Amino acid sequence: MNFSIFDDLLDIPTDLPKILVVDDQRVNLQFMAHIFAHSYQVLTAESGEQALDLCHRTPPDLILLDIGMPGMDGFEVCTQLKADAATQDIPVIFVTANRDEASETRGLELGAVDFISKPVNPAVVRARVKTHLTVKLQSDLLRRLVFRDGLTGVFNRRYFDQQLRMETARASRVNHPLALIMLDVDFFKRFNDRYGHQAGDDCLRLVAQTLKANLRRPADLVARYGGEEFVCLLPDTGFDQAMMLATELETQVRLKTIAHADSDSAKVVTVSLGVAGCNAPLPCTADKLLAAADQQLYLAKHHGRGCVRGQAFQ
Ligand code: GH3
Ligand code: MG
Ligand code: MG
Repeated sequence: MNFSIFDDLLDIPTDLPKILVVDDQRVNLQFMAHIFAHSYQVLTAESGEQALDLCHRTPPDLILLDIGMPGMDGFEVCTQLKADAATQDIPVIFVTANRDEASETRGLELGAVDFISKPVNPAVVRARVKTHLTVKLQSDLLRRLVFRDGLTGVFNRRYFDQQLRMETARASRVNHPLALIMLDVDFFKRFNDRYGHQAGDDCLRLVAQTLKANLRRPADLVARYGGEEFVCLLPDTGFDQAMMLATELETQVRLKTIAHADSDSAKVVTVSLGVAGCNAPLPCTADKLLAAADQQLYLAKHHGRGCVRGQAFQ
């Protein structure tokens, strides 16, 4: 698949697909690594626990999973992967020495896409992996398209809603802070009335790009929440850091100097921002965080616009 002109917009990875091989026998790992060395990036794990840890740190595109392992077996690893939104879309192929019907049924019911018997035939395993990887990469692409805002290219509200729930759950689980910025373009109705809808669209694109360019951590997310309203979701970010970032975003949008003669806030386009930050242990829910950011945005609007207001949950 070649979508190169959209790669940047859709964040399509340009490196080789990653496959993770999980097996307690080193010789099996080496054999699989050898089979795939020239086609994919191969990650290996010698236990179920190590595999789960790797999946969260470096999510692979596919997993070849041994069933019989000391400690956590392959079935348990698969169950945990499928129960977690962050890993549930990674296809799992069981690779097993005893391929009886009962374990095959159990594996498929747990959500595995395929079964391969040991000893492994390199041509068969290559062909099956290729098929499942193609499906996975195509569905990744569809997910990317479904979750994008057509006008600005940043994520849409559907994706944001999903990520907000996921990140609040993760923040409570790992005991990390989480912050949310909600922002809205000031006097944007007047902007459209004066400069036209097309110029309004260009302005929204530039605001979105400015936000994206100023969030540097890979986990930070910008989404278009509604008409001229955007949100930034900031995992592992404390309230004070989020306030600093919001202030920086306010400055950076102002520095774009998009003329706005009819604004009462400045002669250029400005944004108002509301920040809500939950410090760990997480004292708030996704709904509370959203309501607080919205409330703070309202206060920023009433404080003259082109400014930041925030609330911290301790
Ligand atoms: P405030 O400072 O209080 O936010 O005032 P405002 O004029 O920005 O707010 P209001 O909600 O009254 O108007 C929002 C305007 O945003 C009205 C709508 O036409 C415009 N808008 C929403 N989505 C789009 C879009 O996709 N493109 C363009 N060009 N305009 C949009
Ligand atoms: Mg507005
Ligand atoms: Mg608005």
